Amino acid sequence: MKIYNTLTRKKEEFVPLEEGKVRMYVCGPTVYNYIHIGNARPMIVFDTVRRYLEHKGYAVNYVSNFTDVDDKIIKKANEEGVEPSVISERYIEEARKDMESLNVREATCHPKATEEIDGMIEMIRTLIEKGHAYEVNGTVYFKTRSFADYGKLSKKNIDDLQAGHRDIKVTGEDGKKDPLDFVLWKPKKEGEPSWPSPWGEGRPGWHIECSEMSKKYLGEQIDIHAGGEDLIFPHHENEIAQSEACNDKEFARYWMHNGFLNIDNVKMSKSLGNFFTVREIGEKYDLQVLRFFMLSAHYRSPLNFSAELMAAAKNGLDRILTAVDRLKSVDGVDREPDAGEVAQLEALKGLCEKFDKAMDDDFNTADAVSAIFEMVKLANVSVNNDSSNVFVKKVLMTIVEYCDIIGVITDKKEEMLDADIEALINERQAARKAKNFARADEIRQQLLDQGIILEDTREGVKWKRA
Ligand code: AMP
Ligand code: ZN
Repeated sequence: MKIYNTLTRKKEEFVPLEEGKVRMYVCGPTVYNYIHIGNARPMIVFDTVRRYLEHKGYAVNYVSNFTDVDDKIIKKANEEGVEPSVISERYIEEARKDMESLNVREATCHPKATEEIDGMIEMIRTLIEKGHAYEVNGTVYFKTRSFADYGKLSKKNIDDLQAGHRDIKVTGEDGKKDPLDFVLWKPKKEGEPSWPSPWGEGRPGWHIECSEMSKKYLGEQIDIHAGGEDLIFPHHENEIAQSEACNDKEFARYWMHNGFLNIDNVKMSKSLGNFFTVREIGEKYDLQVLRFFMLSAHYRSPLNFSAELMAAAKNGLDRILTAVDRLKSVDGVDREPDAGEVAQLEALKGLCEKFDKAMDDDFNTADAVSAIFEMVKLANVSVNNDSSNVFVKKVLMTIVEYCDIIGVITDKKEEMLDADIEALINERQAARKAKNFARADEIRQQLLDQGIILEDTREGVKWKRA
């Protein structure tokens, strides 16, 4: 199996540190709002990487953090007049719901930065002891030039960086000895969350959070570290500097980065305002469609979000789900597979190998999905009520199994869209007005069957998913 390693800019054969095991860390979202579908891209692609590694027989220890202390969280908390933890807890819960709807499996562990402060302080202390960091008036900086390999991931030359930094002064960072140095610990400001430390009350810098959480939950050396390509510099470059300077070991063997999800060829981002939340998309589409859309492209390529491409993804997914539904209802014959079926099963095996070959080549999900479409075609052409039950079952199980490797659910009823639920609620209201209580009850029951619970309140009808 080959993985494109950003560190070497090459596809490399994957060899884990420990046979049969994979230690993987994926940088998670900063939780100050609903996640947008750009944030969902790394979640979906690296969940798919994890699923495939497990399909290959690896035991995967998958860690993905929540960044729950950050300027943006504090700003939002001040706007709402609540504690920052109220904001971060709220959006962690919402992010978890979105991940579930996208069929992104829970990580082995989802650490929160605010619960790991002690470990961060320990790491910073070690960096100071080893001469890689220094404190000035309650701020601790990493001494970038003390780490000889700085720039090895982003391929940036330290002297070019120096030139670029010459005129940039960041307020509150006057004590920096070198403009290249970056913050490990910053002193408390009024109205901000803070923790005690040997350098006074304060909070950690963003980069040290991931270095520490990765070390604590996966060890000093890990196999795969991943995130969106905007994290290569400075976040991942700084993580490498901190971790390797602290632990004297290579930090991660393989660095994986997903390309951007764009709108009109511009990166989707909160700051530009050109984003859709996962929640908004979930009102228009089954979120399985979003997952399928993301997997239609290679994870390293940029991907443009558009209604046309979502429609194409929906068609493709429907083709698979319809075939699975039909296979489930086929009433086959109790007999051994005949020669024709044996040949088809051989062809099916070939398609499984084709899927694996595509995924072995740096997770080429687009080609893997094509292999699934070929399985569907084989099913549509060769399975009918005259088929042997053994054959029907094998074809069905294979399609379901391979869809599951890319996280596509085949055995669940499609969730009702919000718009359809609201239309039914309106119809029920109209029926009640017309005193057609039988119809009104029927609609209530119909919604209940779909897991939608209605509540008649003074402000009108409210609904929730069971
Ligand atoms: P953030 O909350 O900004 O730290 O982002 C969380 C994750 O989403 C990181 O891995 C980012 O690289 C990734 N990300 C943010 N925006 C996009 C985008 N438009 N396309 C792909 N990945 C993104
Ligand atoms: Zn990170």
